[in-house]
Amino acid sequence: MQKEKRSKLQSLHKRKSDLAQSNTQLESLSNGVFANGELPTFVQKIKESDQFPLRPNKLEILQINLGYMCNQVCAHCHVDAGPDRKEIMTKETMEQCLEVKRNTSAHTLDLTGGAPEMNPNFRWFVEEATKAGVKDFIVRSNLTIIRANKKYHDLPQFFKQHNVHVISSMPHWTRGKTDSQRGSGVFDQSIKALQELNLVGYGLPGSNLHLDLVYNPSGAFLPGDQKSIEQDFKKALLEDFGIQFHQLFCITNLPISRFLDYLIASGNYEDYMYQLVEAYNPAAVKNVMCRNTLSVSWDGFLYDCDFNQMLELKVACKVQHISEYNEEILQNRNIIVSQHCYGCTAGAGSSCQGAVTN
Ligand code: SF4
Ligand code: SF4
Repeated sequence: MQKEKRSKLQSLHKRKSDLAQSNTQLESLSNGVFANGELPTFVQKIKESDQFPLRPNKLEILQINLGYMCNQVCAHCHVDAGPDRKEIMTKETMEQCLEVKRNTSAHTLDLTGGAPEMNPNFRWFVEEATKAGVKDFIVRSNLTIIRANKKYHDLPQFFKQHNVHVISSMPHWTRGKTDSQRGSGVFDQSIKALQELNLVGYGLPGSNLHLDLVYNPSGAFLPGDQKSIEQDFKKALLEDFGIQFHQLFCITNLPISRFLDYLIASGNYEDYMYQLVEAYNPAAVKNVMCRNTLSVSWDGFLYDCDFNQMLELKVACKVQHISEYNEEILQNRNIIVSQHCYGCTAGAGSSCQGAVTN
């Protein structure tokens, strides 16, 4: 019991789980129901609607992973982040990202992690990036980091000062469901952080300090309708805690990393893949986020998306590092897809900005 409890507080890497290896995850996603032809592979599926190979459109969003370190160890984390992960982006790589931002069509910077705020150069980077001019500057904050240590307590004011768009995960408006996915005590700390963000003006009606929440299902099922879940969240958080926010994004859990571990361990893997394939929506394919986003890892390598980054599938072209960025070469690549991509095309589709179809 003691051992099981402890293992849940560690990343797959720390536990030395086979699934910490990206090739083990990719094998799981290619074997079984996909290898025996019970379900079509993602490539077969998008070929049906003549959408293979998947190609990028103009670059709009640079999503930068500042490191895999996090103060939380959420059950379904696709990054396999946690306090035991030490991978952190250096200032030199940040400078290379800024250079690319200045010289490309990307109008949005999206900082993610782990907890991006834990990178010692986080504030420097935000300040420099603001000077470089960004239309939308997103920080994916897990909320509890604001309360985790005195040195983070002023983050709401810092975000406000730089007009950062805060996007935060909040799996449910109840303590039980949130804590079971994100860890004991996370709900209470998240509520306090949201109240502090509201206090400086974030999330209020008409405020240009944008505060959005992200909902992802707590088990092996797909999210429901984004608009109606948003209404439920808004009502409950306002009535119970006086909290306001702008939009709610619904994200489908992709079958990789710790969520894949959960699916396999709970015997839900095949059933979940059936659900994803049955809910496949060809209309969602044209708006999947890899078409207008590039993902940069903590060590500067380029990926089609954050999920491909975690599967260590670098972009399929000769430019693979931010230091050698070349828009033309990158534009002409094919996006690497596999069965995890069904998570982006199920139902209304799913991206870091929620549903991709109406
Ligand atoms: S807060 Fe985010 S990055 Fe950190 S463990 Fe949870 S899901 Fe992963
Ligand atoms: S996981 Fe989604 S965003 Fe990434 S390559 Fe596949 S379809 Fe594109």
